[in-house]
This record gives sequence, C-alpha cells and structure tokens, in this order.
Amino acid sequence: MGAVKKAFVVGGGIGGLTVAHALQRIGVSTRVIEMGDRHDRIGTGITLLGNALRALAELGLVDACLEGGHGWDIVSVRDGAGTVLSEQSSPRIWDPNRPAALGIMRPRLGQVLEDFATKSGAKIDFNTTVTQIDQDDDGVTVHLSNGETDRADLLIAADGAYSKIRQKIFGEEFKPHYAGQGVWRYTVSRTQSMNGFVLYRLPTGRMVGSLPLSKELCYLFFLESTDEKLRVPQDQVCDYLRNLLTPFTAPELVAAAEMVGVDKHISYRPFDVLMMPAPWHCGRVVLLGDAAHSLTPQMTSGGGMAIEDALVLSQELDRNDGLETALVSYCRRREERARRVYDIAYAICREERKPEHGRDYSMGLLREGYAFLAAPV
Ligand SMILES: Cc1cc2nc3c(=O)[nH]c(=O)nc-3n(C[C@H](O)[C@H](O)[C@H](O)COP(=O)(O)OP(=O)(O)OC[C@H]3O[C@@H](n4cnc5c(N)ncnc54)[C@H](O)[C@@H]3O)c2cc1C
Repeated sequence: MGAVKKAFVVGGGIGGLTVAHALQRIGVSTRVIEMGDRHDRIGTGITLLGNALRALAELGLVDACLEGGHGWDIVSVRDGAGTVLSEQSSPRIWDPNRPAALGIMRPRLGQVLEDFATKSGAKIDFNTTVTQIDQDDDGVTVHLSNGETDRADLLIAADGAYSKIRQKIFGEEFKPHYAGQGVWRYTVSRTQSMNGFVLYRLPTGRMVGSLPLSKELCYLFFLESTDEKLRVPQDQVCDYLRNLLTPFTAPELVAAAEMVGVDKHISYRPFDVLMMPAPWHCGRVVLLGDAAHSLTPQMTSGGGMAIEDALVLSQELDRNDGLETALVSYCRRREERARRVYDIAYAICREERKPEHGRDYSMGLLREGYAFLAAPV
C-alpha cells in the first residue's frame, strides 16, 4: 500500500470522477468536491477515441460507457450534397471486437462515471468548493465552502482549464489563452448515413462535421476562426446557425437546418488552451486533466487525456511507497504524452486558421496524432 490512504479530488468532471473510482479501486478513500449541482450537467456530446476506451477498460468502466453511447468505426469525407468522397475504418486499437471510438452525451458519461465512483465508495460533495488549502509534511487540510475542514494525504486538482487550485498553488501566470478558434455544436437527430465521424466539405473550404452520440442523436460542429472570441447575441444564434448550414444540401443537413430552434441544444465554445510545464505537483497537490493540459479539440482527446491521467496516477500511487516518487513518475509518464497531443492539435488549429488551409498537411498531422495515441500509455 502506497503513501496515500485518503485523497481529495477537487472537480467532479470526467477526470475527477474517473480518478475517484480508480483510487477507490486501489484502496484510497476519496472525497470529491464539486462546485456544480448534480443536476447541472449539460453539454452536447463527446467522442472518446480508442486510447480512452482502452484506459476505461482497464478501470472496468468501458462497458457501461459503450452502453450509454454509440460506438463507431467509420471516418467519412463527403461533399456538401452528401456524396461520399472517401471513407475508411479507424483502427480498433484496444479490442479488435469492439468499436474504434465512442460518442456519448456528456451528461450520460458524467452519470456513468458518478455511479461507478460512488459504488466504489467515493464520497461526492456537490455545490461545494475549497476556500483554503494548507499543506505540511504530514498532510493537506482543506477548508470547504460548507464550513467543514477535512484532512487527507493528497489533493488532486481536477477543476478544469480555469483551475482555481492551479492558480493558488502554481501561480497566476499559468492561465489559458485564446487559440483564435471556436466551435459551434448542435445536437440533432441521427440518420443512418451519419454512421461515424462524417465531414461535409464545400469547395469554399467551409466544413460541417457530425459525430454520433446514441442510436437517435448526433452532434454537428462548425469551426470558426476569429482573432477575437466570437460574440453572437442569444436572440440571433438560431439565424446564425441556419446561415452556416444553408450552403449544405445533404438531406440530413437540410433537415438539421429546418430543426434549428431555441429548444435544441446549441452551443459556442472558444478554445482556451494551456500546457502546464512539469512538474505538475507541488507538495501534496497534483494537477490532472484540463487543469494540467487544456487542448484545442482537433484530436478529440482532452477527455481521453484526463481519463489516461486518472489511470496512470492511480497506478503510480499504487506501486510507489513514497508520495514524491509516485507524483514524479506520474508526471514523467503524462507530461510528454499530453504535450505531444496538445502540440499536434494546436498545429492543426493554426493551419485551419490560414486562408489557404493545407488539408493534406492537417490530415497528415491527424494521422500522426492517432498513431501516437495508439501507443501504450
Ligand atoms: C468544444 C470542445 C469539444 C471537445 N470535444 C472533445 C472530444 O470530443 N473528446 C475529448 O476527449 N475531449 C473533448 N474536449 C475536451 C474535454 O471536454 C475536456 O478535456 C474534459 O472535459 C476535461 O475533463 P476535466 O475533468 O479535466 O475538466 P472538466 O470536464 O472541465 O471538469 C472540471 C470540473 O471541476 C468543477 N470545478 C471547477 N472549479 C471548481 C472549484 N473551484 N471547486 C470545485 N469544483 C470545481 C467543474 O464544475 C467541473 O465539473 C472538448 C473540449 C471542447 C472545448
């Protein structure tokens, strides 16, 4: 048994809930502190690639995730009218008999991870945050917004890209910056033809992507490159989205344009990025997930990286007797891998921002990224 008997996890997102479950499995008593309400979970969907599914499988979570979403293999490039230009199967890197990737609604994924974390024995405090952290040679004490004080051996900051813990412990200078791009996402009914990752391309270079989330649903995404973060007034969002879809004549996209309405899930997210240099720990506080590496989503891998972080941190805490040794090994195994994926995703983002976007160059980078992700963690 390693140096950690009890841990706090600040943030109950993908990384926080996965690490809570992973730690309980190795006998570490875990308390998750999440500022949001249990019922707050929103968001469209997320894609988990083979490397994320492989890590979820190691943690006993993959079957429940696959049941909650839609596994897929096909990557298809089509013109605006829906005619297939190229189609290929993604390699099944984690299990030859299971899908290469998974699409799932974020609230559903959050529920699966929460159920497993609590079943494994983790305690989750919703509507709660940390107001003060004091650490010494023997432990870390947290003061919570509900007035409680508690003590543990380790605090894991899984509080996302804008991590307050990172700011407090590592300094104000480590904050995300805008990458010059953002994405519109819109959840729609899925037709049979939206059977995997589908990219619809116009000769002008305009693109719409679609990713499956369940038997019935998928989401559409549009990337927007702007020097400043885009601001569209709420009452103009539907028209804005309809205009984006208008040039696409594939029947499923025409249907999607007709369904645009305030009751549908539509969101715009600018990409704020950060790659923390090593070390990711300071004393008894360690960073995990977006708090350590916030990527542009071109590699659809931020969530997968958080899941891998959770697996590796639990492995290192399990196999090392000393806390410092475990955290150094965790960072050594994770920092280089996350940085490579961050660099590739950001390079594609920068390429897409150019007026003359080199598609072959981007595709080459994407293939390089996928090959890299396939390598064992
Ligand atoms: C547009 C877009 C598309 C993406 N698509 C994909 C994709 O397809 N595949 C993929 O793998 N990744 C994708 N990502 C990345 C992915 O969403 C993130 O990498 C992932 O959510 C990171 O998980 P996390 O647990 O580290 O952080 P988060 O999911 O951000 O969770 C952090 C949690 O901490 C809580 N919190 C924050 N501050 C505090 C505090 N002070 N006290 C207590 N709790 C706090 C928050 O409420 C939240 O629940 C995408 C990202 C974007 C922006």
